[in-house]
Amino acid sequence: MIKQSHLSPDNAVFTEQVLAGDYWIKEVKAGQTLRILDLEGNQAADTLFYSAADPVERYSAIDTIREQANAYLTAGTKLMSNFGNTMLEITADTCGRHDTLGGACATESNQIRYALEKKCMHACRDSWMLAIAENEQYGISKRDITHNINFFMNVPITAEGGLSFEDGISEAGKYVEMKAMMDVIVLISNCPQLNNPCNAYNPTPVEILIWD
Ligand SMILES: [Zn+2]
Repeated sequence: MIKQSHLSPDNAVFTEQVLAGDYWIKEVKAGQTLRILDLEGNQAADTLFYSAADPVERYSAIDTIREQANAYLTAGTKLMSNFGNTMLEITADTCGRHDTLGGACATESNQIRYALEKKCMHACRDSWMLAIAENEQYGISKRDITHNINFFMNVPITAEGGLSFEDGISEAGKYVEMKAMMDVIVLISNCPQLNNPCNAYNPTPVEILIWD
């Protein structure tokens, strides 16, 4: 569902660009709104959420899909935790669809999906591992790296129930915005993937904005 935001970038309390291949990790407080802006279009932002109070509570794709009875994420979707609590709610979305089924790219899956020599290519899982290693204060370990959201990624379900990775439907300037319902740690890998069409084979920066 396309829904414009009423928030102005001029009033944001935080703005930062994240280059493709980089990670971004930060605590977002309950009541704050987080926007991910697709600056150049067709990018994928692979994202995980944790409760700041206890990272054992984290984003759960299966609880989110079941509770909203829909496999796609868009404005109005409540992002649920593995404890059944609403972590964030998507409050604006000019892209219209985000994936939570496809999973994140990893060197192992690149190797299996594409070619043996793709194993050395940079992948989202590596960016997450680097993020938690360089930011031990959040208390997130390797075992907490679980299923994620791919903002802006287009993974439609076929009539037969299959998954297909398709060309992105996002464009330059499209964004998704969500309001935190609890204090959350946000961990984003701005995807460096060069082997599938999720980012048009051209990884580009995204911008993160936060409002109080
Ligand atoms: Zn990726």
